[in-house]
Amino acid sequence: MPGAMRPEGPVTRFAPSPTGPLHLGHAYAALVAAQRGAGRFLLRIEDIDQSRCRAEYEAQIYADLRWLGLNWPEPVMRQSTRLGAYRAALSRLADMGLIYPCRCRRADIRAALSAPQEGALPEGPDGPIYPGLCRGRAMAAAGPEDALRLDMAEAMARVGAVRFVDLGPEHNGTHESTTAEMIDGVGDVVLARRDMGTSYHLSVVVDDAAQGITEVTRGADLFAATKLHVLLQILLELPTPTYYHHKLIRDDAGKRLAKRDDARALARYRAEGASPQDIRLMLGL
Ligand code: GLU
Repeated sequence: MPGAMRPEGPVTRFAPSPTGPLHLGHAYAALVAAQRGAGRFLLRIEDIDQSRCRAEYEAQIYADLRWLGLNWPEPVMRQSTRLGAYRAALSRLADMGLIYPCRCRRADIRAALSAPQEGALPEGPDGPIYPGLCRGRAMAAAGPEDALRLDMAEAMARVGAVRFVDLGPEHNGTHESTTAEMIDGVGDVVLARRDMGTSYHLSVVVDDAAQGITEVTRGADLFAATKLHVLLQILLELPTPTYYHHKLIRDDAGKRLAKRDDARALARYRAEGASPQDIRLMLGL
């Protein structure tokens, strides 16, 4: 039909950290993102943790993804070049009075929580819910040894409730979190680690918006962090994408694959003569 517009699909991304070789689980995540994005698929290298990231792993990511048959626009966004954008987002939250410096070490937090038994503590996306020891410290007192935390109660007082839509098979539907759920289930998370000046949560939110991502596809292990990401989007006046949390690929024992499981590395399958089509079949794609 002359002039008919093809409806445009979502813009998706695959956002690996170059801390080890890609394995089958990454191949699944990348292929799902590329399939959902159908031609509007982007790549982002999540390399804020410079102590764990390696150039050779990054090179291997590009080689593995090309071998799988994926294409993406250049230049690829790399988080290590985006520290200014993260700082700007933090100062915006600071101006709103929503963050405070925290000097607690893990041991201080454990001691303050003094769990009656191991494993009994409520866990948020980053581990035990922070007990608030440093809450209320002024930003003017922040030093280089401090992390910066979000004051969840203050943040939720501005926002009311947090809502997002998941289109994936695991968590399909609309998800809403109340102020109480955010305080009890997420708490005062770290938005800037003292060693890197940012955090996974802050960077992913700033960068998904900067890349114009409209559907975030990623593993169901990150589902618990999504409500926090949506809250940050609202506070920073960024659009909230839809989400598509997919299943995790597990080994024969049912354990989730990790980067250290070299036996499942894509490069290894490739070296042993597997084709990209074999990988897709193995993953049920
Ligand atoms: N960089 C994260 C990882 O490698 C993925 C982040 C995301 O998809 O939001 O697990």
